Amino acid sequence: MKLILLGAPGAGKGTVAKLLTEIDGSVQISTGDILRGAVQAGSELGKKADAFMKAGDLVPDELIMGIMEERLQEPDCEKGFLLDGFPRTIPQAEQLKVLLERIGISLDMAVNIDVARDVILDRLTTRRTCENSKCQAIYNVKSNPPKVEGICDKCGSAVVQREDETEEAISNRLATYNEKTAPLIGYYDNEGLLITVDATSSDAVINAIKAKLG
Ligand code: AMP
Repeated sequence: MKLILLGAPGAGKGTVAKLLTEIDGSVQISTGDILRGAVQAGSELGKKADAFMKAGDLVPDELIMGIMEERLQEPDCEKGFLLDGFPRTIPQAEQLKVLLERIGISLDMAVNIDVARDVILDRLTTRRTCENSKCQAIYNVKSNPPKVEGICDKCGSAVVQREDETEEAISNRLATYNEKTAPLIGYYDNEGLLITVDATSSDAVINAIKAKLG
């Protein structure tokens, strides 16, 4: 399947994407994970992205489009992909459309995961992430803690609070979402690709997607 997952930070895009990869071998492409990996590795891309990310601001569109242009043409995308956290602005969506047309790929749908703001805030402040850039498993101190406190069940690395999950950065990320990313809902509706799933459980989101794909 070839899907875009839309939704505010904390809506569950990453969790849904990971579950969907198990269905048909589609790959999860998270621009946030790619950027965090680049920051950890200290690469040129990471150096450019670091300050924007810490503040909860978006990284410039040109940097993101450069990453995605390469990533979408890698062989593992042939089975399908789940775009998690991309596109994030109307210019990114427009450029993605041109890129996909050029490489001959069409999207199945854009899924808007719609979750109430109080649920999002609670999730983001209690979310913890594996710091190993190759793993980045997601936990929650209340609903899904690691078996051993602070240690990732999957790879044994430390489980930490993301630097952009301080209260200040979270409120900036949500404001940025409303201003720059929420307009994509209208954009994909116009493209005839949008489904909105009003659900807080990832299983309900997966079922809605499966039903739509038929
Ligand atoms: P995420 O893990 O998707 O919440 O992304 C974490 C941070 O990475 C965001 O707050 C942005 O600073 C940056 N980022 C991720 N994806 C994008 C994107 N498509 N465009 C611009 N910035 C992005």
